[in-house]
Amino acid sequence: MSQVTGSKVPFTRENVMKCLCGICPVQTESQCVEESVRKLGGSIAESPNLSPENVPGLYCSSGTANCPDIDPGKPCVCAGCGVYNGYALGCGPPVHHFCLNGGSSA
Ligand code: SF4
Ligand code: SF4
Repeated sequence: MSQVTGSKVPFTRENVMKCLCGICPVQTESQCVEESVRKLGGSIAESPNLSPENVPGLYCSSGTANCPDIDPGKPCVCAGCGVYNGYALGCGPPVHHFCLNGGSSA
């Protein structure tokens, strides 16, 4: 699994599993995200092939989203996430909408 340079959060399956981006209103209507999940076999949890390039989530680690049709005007649910609290991402920067603002730096 890839390590993302400069990020506070390691890109691990454990962290992908805790990520709430999959239920976030910012991307629940994105056809691009839906297609990305389909390419992972329909379930991120069960995919053997997770990387910062192909997972539509864990943006606090991987940085801005690849999908152009997300809606960053909607609220971010990161603050309720175990990764967010575990790595004190509220200290930032940035502190939310990592899919738009980029990953959390150390
Ligand atoms: S803090 Fe946000 S981007 Fe990071 S794992 Fe949690 S929900 Fe995903
Ligand atoms: S980083 Fe925040 S705003 Fe972006 S998809 Fe994840 S939970 Fe939603």
